[in-house]
Amino acid sequence: MNYQQYFPLDVVNGPGSRATLFVSGCEHQCRGCYNQSTWSPDSGHEFDDQMVQQIIKDLNDTRIKRRGLSLTGGDPLFPQNVDAILALVKRVKAECPDKDIWLWTGYQKAELTDAQSQVLEYIDVLVDGKFEQSQADPSLQFRGSRNQVIHQLHQ
Ligand code: SF4
Repeated sequence: MNYQQYFPLDVVNGPGSRATLFVSGCEHQCRGCYNQSTWSPDSGHEFDDQMVQQIIKDLNDTRIKRRGLSLTGGDPLFPQNVDAILALVKRVKAECPDKDIWLWTGYQKAELTDAQSQVLEYIDVLVDGKFEQSQADPSLQFRGSRNQVIHQLHQ
């Protein structure tokens, strides 16, 4: 998997202070997408174990308390990303148990493959669905269009 950007401290993508990873790779081609540079899975930088270590270190940093990790893109559930994302969320849940994980995908929850669905066991919130320009609403929190749904997976 490749990633586009990593923000160690972010207050926009999800509730509270967070670490946010923008992965590369997306096949949805939503009209009005403002992250088109993320569509190619080969764009950006290699997501390696050093990055995993950095994310875990940031989440466990007691000087700046972060509420959790946000995974967006691109699409973290783009088929080629699933193995790396699954490994990442397993490690974050094991090593940062008090942090929540939010994940944004262009797929709908009901259409996820078995492989993609495995990721849901380790995340707290899934925001699903393509960005639909006809349903765009800037007043929405944590989603761009009204068709997208915020699923609380684990309380
Ligand atoms: S799912 Fe997100 S990154 Fe992919 S095309 Fe749609 S808006 Fe862009």
